[in-house]
Amino acid sequence: MDKLWLADGTFTRSLCFKMCIVLALRLHQLKNKTGNMIQTKAFAAFDAKTPLAPFDFERRNVRANDVQLEILYCGVCHSDLHQARDEWGGSIYPMVPGHEIVGKVVSVGSSVTKFKTGDTAGVGVMVDSCRTCKNCQKDLEQYCVEGMTGTYNAKERDGKTIAQGGYSTQIVVDERYVLKVAPELDLKAVAPLLCAGITTYSPLVYAGVKKGMKVGVVGLGGLGHMGVKFAASFGAEVTVLSTSPSKEADAKRLGATKFLLTTDEAAMKGYDSYFDVILDAISANHDYTKYLDLLDIDGKLLVVGLPTDAPKVLPFSLIKNRRSIIGSMIGGMKETQEMLDYCAANNIVSDVELINMQDINEAYERMLKGDVKYRFVIDLASLK
Ligand code: NAP
Ligand code: ZN
Ligand code: ZN
Repeated sequence: MDKLWLADGTFTRSLCFKMCIVLALRLHQLKNKTGNMIQTKAFAAFDAKTPLAPFDFERRNVRANDVQLEILYCGVCHSDLHQARDEWGGSIYPMVPGHEIVGKVVSVGSSVTKFKTGDTAGVGVMVDSCRTCKNCQKDLEQYCVEGMTGTYNAKERDGKTIAQGGYSTQIVVDERYVLKVAPELDLKAVAPLLCAGITTYSPLVYAGVKKGMKVGVVGLGGLGHMGVKFAASFGAEVTVLSTSPSKEADAKRLGATKFLLTTDEAAMKGYDSYFDVILDAISANHDYTKYLDLLDIDGKLLVVGLPTDAPKVLPFSLIKNRRSIIGSMIGGMKETQEMLDYCAANNIVSDVELINMQDINEAYERMLKGDVKYRFVIDLASLK
């Protein structure tokens, strides 16, 4: 071998040439394997205690049924804070929160039919489900028997890949879980509809809210302010029940006709057995009985807020007036699209405060104090 290398210059050159080709091919294969992965910039929580910080990672390649979005805006839901700080338990780190996503389609897989490059689209709280169980087949994928796949803080259906959310520049999602968004809308104000919007629209529709009904909305935050807009738009008389006297003017601007300070016990007594429906969107631990007592015959307490402790419920308050407590989790894909179309037709969007990605930790602190009017939305241009 040595002899060949030394004795025959031509052979040596040809061997070198062949080796170079093999090397180039290997490099090309390697590049194809990693080069097509989608480089993504993000902010992540690395544990429950430290502030969110920059995090770069790779999204999967676009598969046949996938849509790739360049994210424009992502709303900041209180659920992001609950999970980043592991308040519900079982958080997976590093975690890129964010499930109120609006973006531009930049790439579609070969079998995609609903979207094309350049479209405006949205992603909400789930990115997959089993698709075959009884609930998935009834367009109730959020109640998938096997469990829906959350947009973040979840494992994808392969049981390994960690789903990462919208505090990031790119996302890749199967088109079945991507929503159409009308491009002429104010897109930053549309983003919160993907969670706060559908989470309040769905139970209000389920409870049959309409003209002639009295609806209370408790907790005027991101969810609550959408609840007020929807209930008013469905024709109901809306009352905001709040701990913040400073929100009264906003409550009325958003569509409420009455405002009730929940810390004012005498005023609360005046509303005993008054409401047909109360939407409870409080993020902190609280007593449900206080609100049950305000429900009229067959009144419904619609619970969407997700604090951590078991609430106090007095059975006497429940049996009086045949009251019920109904929980509700986001909405299915079909209903979420219906909600977006309803909002487009009725000019409904969120009231938002646009922030840079770098401001997220301060935004969390302000959200905890109820100091947000009424949803923070991240401008992802700040990460590019
Ligand atoms: P948010 O913007 O922080 O609003 C929560 C509101 O609750 C506050 O603005 C405040 O309203 C009220 N509040 C806060 N602390 C309170 C306390 N100690 N006692 C009484 N009221 C208090 O939160 P969000 O994003 O709307 O989310 C609300 C809850 O819904 C969170 O727990 C979130 O995880 C949950 N969520 C559930 C679903 C679902 O599918 N069910 C989906 C999304 C979010 P006032 O100032 O008016 O009192
Ligand atoms: Zn949410
Ligand atoms: Zn299912």
